[in-house]
Amino acid sequence: MLLSGTDLLAVANKNQFAVPAFNVSDYAMMNGLFEISEEKKAPLLIAIHPDELSHVGVDMMRAVIARAGRSSVPVAIHFDHGASYEQILLAIRVGFTSVMIDGSMLPFAENIALTRRAVEAAHAVGVSVEGELGTIGKTDSEAEDGAATIIYTEPDDAVTFVEETGVDTLAIAIGTCHGIYPAWMKPELKLELLERIKVKVSIPLVLHGVSNNPDTEIGQAVKLGVNKINISSDIKVAYHDKMREVLTDTSLREPNSIQPPCIAAMKVTAAHKIDLFDAAGKAELY
Ligand SMILES: [Zn+2]
Repeated sequence: MLLSGTDLLAVANKNQFAVPAFNVSDYAMMNGLFEISEEKKAPLLIAIHPDELSHVGVDMMRAVIARAGRSSVPVAIHFDHGASYEQILLAIRVGFTSVMIDGSMLPFAENIALTRRAVEAAHAVGVSVEGELGTIGKTDSEAEDGAATIIYTEPDDAVTFVEETGVDTLAIAIGTCHGIYPAWMKPELKLELLERIKVKVSIPLVLHGVSNNPDTEIGQAVKLGVNKINISSDIKVAYHDKMREVLTDTSLREPNSIQPPCIAAMKVTAAHKIDLFDAAGKAELY
């Protein structure tokens, strides 16, 4: 069944687990993510970034909506890192049930103004909104948006931001980066900061840039109250690492010969995240 982001994440907030938001820009990968979520009986967020939407084209949304509608697990379709009011309107028009407006690189007051405008439009048609406060880092040029340096989310600012914008979920910066960390960089989350934000902010909290962070830290973040975790790089690395291996057999030509082992490898990674986020079996709570 297809739900709004708010309805999907309210259950996670109440029951202390996190829903994985898997980034999708490929039809076969999308099917694999639905399959593994159904096998694990886990709620699912299909996340599509504006660059991914340009790649697959807006017509793909009809397929995503149709697949979500007949899914045995609850699903929301989330527009990841919307950069402008106009992009949010497009996302609403093509059928996303949840949108992110990312004003995190703007000055505080401008971020509030842009986010509030997006909330007014989205709420008018029952679509939920994620805002972002603080900046998430960026490790390499393949990574999606991000800043050179991380600005951590201040708990009091988070309270003001939520009150003044009316957002349904909040992405916070506690030390994660988009992309895969280079060998010299040791990711470290400020979990005490997460605790201080969670005490003050009651809406679901979101972590971006979590690929490649140690499992122990992520597991703790879930226990401390994160309810949506974005995973993009890890599933794509699993898929394409396998594809490089498969393509060493140069006799292969058909996508239906080449892609299935890659999808299987991606599903192993996705299943691991679902377990780590404590989301397995949670579909029955809806
Ligand atoms: Zn992100």
